[in-house]
Amino acid sequence: MTDNNGSQARARGSDGLPKPRHRGLRIGCFLALVLILALLGVALWLLRTPLYKRFVLYPRYARALAELKTRLAAPPDDGWTDFRSVVHSHSYLSHDSIGTPAEIVAAAKKVGIEAIFMTDHPTADNRQLSHALSGDASGVIFFPGYESGENMAVFPGPVTGELNRLVQLLPLEKKFDNVAKRGGLVIYPHPEEGKRRWDIVNFHGMEIYNIHTDFKEVIAAKRVGEFLLEELVLGRRFPMLAFRVMQREPVEFLARWDDLNAKRHVIGTAGNDAHQNVRLALQRTEEGKLAVYFGVEEEPEAELGGVVGWIAGWVAEGTEEIWARQVDPYERSFAFVNTFLLAREHSPQALFEALAQGHNYVAFAGFLDPRGFRFSYRNGDVTAIMGDELAFQPGGSLHIRVPLETEIRLIRDGTLHSKYSDQEVTAPVTEPGLYRVEARFSVGGESWPWIYSSPIHLLSSDSPPG
Ligand SMILES: [Zn+2]
Repeated sequence: MTDNNGSQARARGSDGLPKPRHRGLRIGCFLALVLILALLGVALWLLRTPLYKRFVLYPRYARALAELKTRLAAPPDDGWTDFRSVVHSHSYLSHDSIGTPAEIVAAAKKVGIEAIFMTDHPTADNRQLSHALSGDASGVIFFPGYESGENMAVFPGPVTGELNRLVQLLPLEKKFDNVAKRGGLVIYPHPEEGKRRWDIVNFHGMEIYNIHTDFKEVIAAKRVGEFLLEELVLGRRFPMLAFRVMQREPVEFLARWDDLNAKRHVIGTAGNDAHQNVRLALQRTEEGKLAVYFGVEEEPEAELGGVVGWIAGWVAEGTEEIWARQVDPYERSFAFVNTFLLAREHSPQALFEALAQGHNYVAFAGFLDPRGFRFSYRNGDVTAIMGDELAFQPGGSLHIRVPLETEIRLIRDGTLHSKYSDQEVTAPVTEPGLYRVEARFSVGGESWPWIYSSPIHLLSSDSPPG
């Protein structure tokens, strides 16, 4: 009786209704809740950095950049205009891009790009040159060119005739001569590539920064996971800031550039390397790893095993694609970094001439508009702008103007000569040398690279002629 009463007492709740059937369910619910909370906790832990950036850090950066923007002075009225340009872009004419001219023009208009130097990869029928965009399209001036494994070349206008002589198997010097004969310029892309022939003396320029180079560094440094999380959580909301996670200061490229310029004039450009076909995709491999695809290459850039592979197997079946995103729509690669050409008018002749003379600077314009930056030299009646070279004479001075008061570094022969925190600087020059300027701005106490000017070369009497 007691047993019966006891079991009855346990079976009834305070309202007197029977309960035992619900008890298992309650425990099940509780365990499920614990599991969900645990998974949520793990997800929050894994995403803690991008979530912090999404809701705290990047909004703070965005506010700081917006505030800096309100302080930008208008460009000076000195007869020069800085035209925002893209040097190094691909289209459907390349094997690794499907971008159409209409998409390229639309993106350029949206970003405010005023000139694009197209550099499609060579094909057997040379369509990269015969079909290349050239001349004015809705206010954007296009220049044809190509990028082979060895070099990149751009031309002032349509290229016809024996196109194969530009890219066929000739010695490089000969090929570069053929480019020059057509009025073109040879620019070395991807300066990180070991096969670059720096000893050749008839190439005209080099990239001092390239977006894809930075991504290759991300892979080499095993930071793919960090990049993926950033892209996943922040790519859409903060496209420029999310690219910044891979941005690296091109210290060794600048050093190389300084070395070359000490001997002869070499142009420095920014490599947008725009394809609009750099699709970031995650796919499970047959071996149970996570393959990371970047671009249209058939081979993955990286294969991640271990825990990552295990998770991949957990979320995907077979060799299923898990996630994909177009990382480099044209407007994103066009906006991040640019080559600004100083010219008197927006014409193909003036812009090509500006590039050929090195009358340009490179800037991370996706963060802050650098237009109005100037670097010049004056000595009595003699004036020079960035890219120029002339004989050193005592009594001259260098003039630097930045659109806002910020950190200015004057570099002489590859080493820091002087540092200023100002908007306009006049620096007397007491010795010959290769002078160039770097400008940086401050965001929340951090110093971000912004502008790299072309050098002004004040030649000593024993300098080699340029
Ligand atoms: Zn390229």
